[in-house]
Amino acid sequence: MQDFELRVPRLLDHAEREHGGREIVTRWANGTETRTNWAGIARDARRLAQALERLGIRRGDRVATMAMNHAHHLIAWYGVIGMGGIIHTINPRLFDDQLAYIADHAGDRVLFYDAVFAPIIERMKPRLSGIEHFIVMDGDGPDSFAALIAPETGDYAWVEGDEREHCMICYTSGTTGDPKGVIYSHRSNVLHAIAELQPDEFDLSQRAVCLPVVPMFHAVGWGLPFAAPAVGAKIVFSAVNDPAVLCDLMNRERVTHSAGVPTVWFAMFQYMDATGQAPEHLKVVTIGGSAAPRAMIERIMRMGVRVNHAWGMTETSPIGTMGAPGSDWDDLSFDQRVDQVCRQGKVPFGVELRTVDEEGNVLPRDGQTSGQLQVRGPWVIKRYFRDEAGDALTPDGWFDTGDVAMLHPDGTMQITDRAKDVIKSGGEWISSVDLENAAVGCPGVAEAAAIGVPHPRWDERPVLLVVKRPDAEVTVEAVMAHLATKVAKWWLPDRVIFVDALPHSATGKLKKAALRGEYRGVLA
Ligand code: ADP
Repeated sequence: MQDFELRVPRLLDHAEREHGGREIVTRWANGTETRTNWAGIARDARRLAQALERLGIRRGDRVATMAMNHAHHLIAWYGVIGMGGIIHTINPRLFDDQLAYIADHAGDRVLFYDAVFAPIIERMKPRLSGIEHFIVMDGDGPDSFAALIAPETGDYAWVEGDEREHCMICYTSGTTGDPKGVIYSHRSNVLHAIAELQPDEFDLSQRAVCLPVVPMFHAVGWGLPFAAPAVGAKIVFSAVNDPAVLCDLMNRERVTHSAGVPTVWFAMFQYMDATGQAPEHLKVVTIGGSAAPRAMIERIMRMGVRVNHAWGMTETSPIGTMGAPGSDWDDLSFDQRVDQVCRQGKVPFGVELRTVDEEGNVLPRDGQTSGQLQVRGPWVIKRYFRDEAGDALTPDGWFDTGDVAMLHPDGTMQITDRAKDVIKSGGEWISSVDLENAAVGCPGVAEAAAIGVPHPRWDERPVLLVVKRPDAEVTVEAVMAHLATKVAKWWLPDRVIFVDALPHSATGKLKKAALRGEYRGVLA
């Protein structure tokens, strides 16, 4: 058989050749809408590749984006990757220190940003000294994306090479310490895209109209910008996540497939309840990033829409498992079907899962035993970018996810807890350790534990448990006022609760799981 390197630009070439007229619609932040198609995206990506070469960007260089979902962001991904560069998607919600750290760590040379993030760029410019070119994605000024590609013809051949070459980097701030870079290869992205198209996964086809609500800066936009062109699906982008805008777009463009974190669907439900409007053409909704609540799954299923409950991580490109209807679906009652979707589903071919106990013994897939969830496969991380510590794997080659899960005899996986000490609010990470360190700096505080507690709107919100120093006069207001000077506003705990003591393990670690169990109802 032929050697046919699995390079990302081939996905776009395919869409241009076979589905060139299939539309890509953008609803921009300023309310305007533009339409292009796969042929237009491919042509502009080649023009961008030419423009980047004109700027002196070379194979292997990193080019960053701080942008919402729109056609120019898609073009930037393919243009950078096509000229042999590495696209680095930056989450605009990072703090200044994290932002400065990752731009420097990645070695970004160019930054494409949305006009809405101009205040961040202006503030940060002195700390982004490695970036030679700042280009605004929207608008048509002299430093704009439009002006950059205007002189170029699009007569350009993609850089060819090994499928194992790197093409994308995405930082995760999930764990403590500095953010870590997950670096993807052409091969990992293409294999992930092919897997993602399958009926039991995103179920994309040339008839699909896909509106990814998940931002492109979140874990590779869940891979959709790479999967859609492989079948010629239409994409509808919205640069804002307002439910009124999303619902209107979904109905006008007849969106059949959408994907986002639970918070997105909560907001949509509120809009639906307030207005009587609803998305009318949806067939498949993928929910992931946090556990999808049962009531949410049930409501969407009652609309006649299939719910894919997805589990994954930035480190897994991100698809690990997907909760598609199982082989026994036809024999199940509605409630039993909802029960099935509440689990995080099964792996596609390519991903392997196991659970282990604290000594590393592999646990049975009996639907009763929970353990640390480990994963391996061709789109699972091996080593974080520039990590001197070596590979992020167990000695026998598995990646430990930091999640605690149960594997069932029917192959489904169920997340039961999280071993890593982080809190996930509205799809974004809050470091419990950073919160605790900030709290302990407050006069009169002896010890503090920050835990994620289930919250009806944000999935999880931080609750801070505080032990006072003997005889200290500390109030909730004083703790909050102190924290407000140390962490971003959205990190502030929803509740501060004073306790006499906190539980510790034999090795002196806070027993977070016990605390999460005890306080799980306080924000209900
Ligand atoms: P993403 O951007 O896809 O959310 P992250 O790397 O930021 O990826 O977060 C991955 C973590 O999010 C997982 O390790 C897990 O703790 C949590 N997570 C993701 N999906 C689910 C899910 N369906 N149920 C429960 N937890 C989930």
